[in-house]
Amino acid sequence: MSDTSQSAALFERARAVTPGGVNSPVRAFRGVGGTPRFVASAKGAWLTDVDGTRYVDLISSWGPMILGHAHPDVLDAVAQTASRGFSFGTPSENEVALAEEIVARVEPLEQVRLVSSGTEATMSALRLARGATGRSAVVKFAGCYHGHVDALLAHAGSGVATFALPDSAGVPASAAGETIVLPYNDLAAVEAAFAERGEEIAAVITEAAAGNMGVVPPAPGFTEGLRRITAAHGALLISDEVMTGFRCSPSGWYGHETRAGGEHPGGYPSGAPDLFTFGKVMGGGFPAAAFGGRADLMAHLAPDGPVYQAGTLSGNPVATAAGLATLRGCTPSLYDHLAEVSQTIGAAASDALTQAGVPHTLQRASSMFSVFFTDGPVERYSDAQGQDTAAFGRFFHAMLDAGVHLPPSAYESWFVSGAHDDEAVETVLAALPGAARAAAA
Ligand code: PLP
Repeated sequence: MSDTSQSAALFERARAVTPGGVNSPVRAFRGVGGTPRFVASAKGAWLTDVDGTRYVDLISSWGPMILGHAHPDVLDAVAQTASRGFSFGTPSENEVALAEEIVARVEPLEQVRLVSSGTEATMSALRLARGATGRSAVVKFAGCYHGHVDALLAHAGSGVATFALPDSAGVPASAAGETIVLPYNDLAAVEAAFAERGEEIAAVITEAAAGNMGVVPPAPGFTEGLRRITAAHGALLISDEVMTGFRCSPSGWYGHETRAGGEHPGGYPSGAPDLFTFGKVMGGGFPAAAFGGRADLMAHLAPDGPVYQAGTLSGNPVATAAGLATLRGCTPSLYDHLAEVSQTIGAAASDALTQAGVPHTLQRASSMFSVFFTDGPVERYSDAQGQDTAAFGRFFHAMLDAGVHLPPSAYESWFVSGAHDDEAVETVLAALPGAARAAAA
């Protein structure tokens, strides 16, 4: 095992001045135990911690680093832009260019509003949906995570799942009371909720493909069914593509599903979602996110309409430059590479666990993938909750000791990048058999 003394010392310092020593809960390693590694630098597919140990990175900053760390084109764009100033508080050209790039990629979008985090994107999309429909209830799915928005924290995935919290304290009953939580991939439950409260429901929000309870793709026909049911009741459909956007295809999960020959061919015959939310990849590792939809719907937003939404750093010039450079690097060959690498690593992980006799299920949504430590299939949160998280913890630490940094939770997707080359992949493949045996122990 490598030296972790510098990370441990930093963690100690951090705990004195920051709750739990971290600025986002899953980073604290509570789901797997042990000391989180404090990273000093990152380049390509590799992280280097403060003790000088290198790890192949399968977190990719939880999604954004699709080109790998410190990609030269993004670095160049950031340096050049920053040399002209950091934030103006006035409109600037990069914001227009990034909005144009996003609108050009995702066909149903006519307009987007830029914000600084995925949480802001979903919070604002929800406010817009409520403002546009004059209704207040919202449907979300258990195990889906849409950021730490009051109304959307009920039965959420990601950190809320990692810590097995049903809900967060501090969310008023009035906010939670407007949220109807249903099982993912269960259209009958959606029909029943609309039969009962259809007139009150402003929107259904769904992860385009769920990645925050581990990876659970929508069952064939699920998104299409949501579209049909919401349209019949005058409610909006919000597709949260914060994680899947520009990762699952050049136009996100939307493009992946509608592409001829995609895993769920048939697309959206009843029409596209009304609103989309984006983050992660579109900021290239900087704080940039967006929500958008048809122009008539977006016209409800201030300054054109009565739904207020704003941000001091929204459309920040440096963040938008990083996002633009990243999206421009998202070429067809990048997606081929992501598919190949995720296929190779996923299959090897599954083989190693099978060899070691560890019950598991590998699931994918395009190049996002995760291993559930349970017999599958996993179609909804209650299935994911049945997994052996202690086995995952042993697997995680054996991988870490062998130089591979997985997300420190059994409820998260693994992310690869354009920088995961042969050396990185070989390192992962070499680590897997030992980690599988550790999981079996
Ligand atoms: N929506 C989804 C699907 C996410 O995966 C996340 C973050 O993981 C969010 C929203 C929230 O984004 P952020 O962490 O940038 O606030």
